[in-house]
Amino acid sequence: IIQIQHLQKHFGNLKVLNDVSFDIHKGEVVTVIGSSGSGKSTMLRCINLLERMDGGNILYHGKNILDNGNDVNQYRSKVGVVFQSFNLFNNLSVIENCMIGQIKVLKRSKEEARAKAEKYLKEVGMFEFANKASTKLSGGQKQRVAIARALCMDPEVLLFDEPTSALDPEMVGDVLDVMKDLANHGLTMVIVTHEMQFAKEVSDRVIFMDQGVIAEQGTPDEIFNNPKHERTKQFLSRYS
Ligand code: ATP
Ligand code: MG
Repeated sequence: IIQIQHLQKHFGNLKVLNDVSFDIHKGEVVTVIGSSGSGKSTMLRCINLLERMDGGNILYHGKNILDNGNDVNQYRSKVGVVFQSFNLFNNLSVIENCMIGQIKVLKRSKEEARAKAEKYLKEVGMFEFANKASTKLSGGQKQRVAIARALCMDPEVLLFDEPTSALDPEMVGDVLDVMKDLANHGLTMVIVTHEMQFAKEVSDRVIFMDQGVIAEQGTPDEIFNNPKHERTKQFLSRYS
């Protein structure tokens, strides 16, 4: 679905992404691991056009996403992102959070948007909170609403940037369970995470990033049980 080709990004003199290339195939779950500062978030932000890339191309269904005439908002609705910090609209209720993008970007009717929102709030176990203020939720609940909101846009790909790292430990499991469910239903996902056990379980492919490059990628078995690169071994040894 998405081809990332020779992605480059720098902030001033700091090279954050240096020739990152990989493809995201339909139905695939790709997890991205790596040390703090290795460029994982920057890469996701470039894929979602939240950050301007300095070099390289991103193709979506074979078309360059930066070509004139491509609607950026439409692309963003197809390639959704769930952040560490939820980013819900505080002045809106749970269900309104799930409806607004559908109405504004996809031009759905209120009824249609509400029906979709209800469906996905049920799926993430948050339907009973539909009319609550989003500020009244716990972190784990907010994150599940953020996932429902992203799903309401009928994304083809969902990007996750450390969706559980801002959560209290007892909330992490609920959110990971929702994501496992989505993986089992065939949703295409790219997940930046420090949850190694989760990565082992859900990934079709694991990408290890180190200092702005993909140092190694492979199946969970290859990366976790037989890492080839010294840096991968070093990184993983911190988690065992
Ligand atoms: P973490 O695991 O801590 O989230 P990461 O792999 O997501 O790390 P990035 O957030 O992509 O790392 O950051 C990569 C590098 O780019 C870091 O050195 C960071 O300080 C730098 N950086 C990120 N965003 C900016 C910015 N807006 N301006 C300047 N430097 C930035
Ligand atoms: Mg990050």
